[in-house]
Amino acid sequence: MNGIKQKVAGWNLQESIKPFSKLTDEDVIKIVNSALLSNVKRATSYKFAFFKSILDNLFNVDLNSMPECFLSFDSISMRFTEIYWNLVLKFGLSQMPQNQYEKKTVVETKLFDFCKKYGFNFPDINFPFESLKPSLQLEIAKTIQKTVVEKNVLGAFCSDTNFEFYHFSKAKKWNGIYLNHDAFVTLAKYKSDFEKINYFEWIKYLESVNTEEQSYQLAKKLDASTERQNLNQYRNALFTFGQTTCFYCGKPLSENAVDHFIPWSFTKDDKVWNFVLSCPSCNSKKSNRLTTQHFLQSINLRNQKLCNVDLPVVKEDFKTYTYSKLALMYSNAIFNGFTPDWQP
Ligand SMILES: [Zn+2]
Repeated sequence: MNGIKQKVAGWNLQESIKPFSKLTDEDVIKIVNSALLSNVKRATSYKFAFFKSILDNLFNVDLNSMPECFLSFDSISMRFTEIYWNLVLKFGLSQMPQNQYEKKTVVETKLFDFCKKYGFNFPDINFPFESLKPSLQLEIAKTIQKTVVEKNVLGAFCSDTNFEFYHFSKAKKWNGIYLNHDAFVTLAKYKSDFEKINYFEWIKYLESVNTEEQSYQLAKKLDASTERQNLNQYRNALFTFGQTTCFYCGKPLSENAVDHFIPWSFTKDDKVWNFVLSCPSCNSKKSNRLTTQHFLQSINLRNQKLCNVDLPVVKEDFKTYTYSKLALMYSNAIFNGFTPDWQP
């Protein structure tokens, strides 16, 4: 029959709570490939941003929740919003084919409405999401959560991944998803590879709906969409904690750098338990490298004390922290090509 519009399966799904199957690494890879390479004509880039939001948040999954592997909408939506803020407003990338009707995706509409409300004039908004006040970040992330993530993406991606990756329930008002533990393990193990598959398909989509000029350095723009420049809140937390010497070489800190212990290029996330203060020399020499095992023990001991510091960022970031997860992140970084050989 003519005239039937092709629906994106699952977008209106209310819940998915069917018990998970046992998944091997191979099963998970197959599911991701078919979800991202799907031949269904894509109307939006939501699934790529949503998948990145899950990948970037893998080490914020609560392994002690009941049932286990809870990932909150707060974490997912904040990341999802940050990605779109930077792609749409900072880099000026369209998320839909541009035509005479000037049709926009819901996420673009919500971002533009928000900017109008606060008097940010597009296209002069070239500031990153991190420069927004925290209360405004929260406001727009909540809006995007309700109108995009929960409404359009949650069910669709669940269906795309054969209902095997996560459980969710709008009926029971769960405020997040429960990942299949097997999927969690495989996604964390091959994190960089999944990231690359996702970027490649995402770039192909964005190139198809943007001009050549807009598409310049797309890979860099996607990767930089969640990179923070201002790490002052972490610096302050580590000062409050009382760190006065370089974490790596032990020299007194006259100048300091806030350093990702496990490199940002692997974690793609900023959490206080993965930050240390270092001298500029160690910071620049370590750069994108992984330290020797010895320092993993040191940061474990440091975190046992740091978690008691009475600051909001510390309380928030330590909510789902466990040492075993940090150790898993470290060994997964090695599996993803980082050599654990750096020391001052
Ligand atoms: Zn040093």
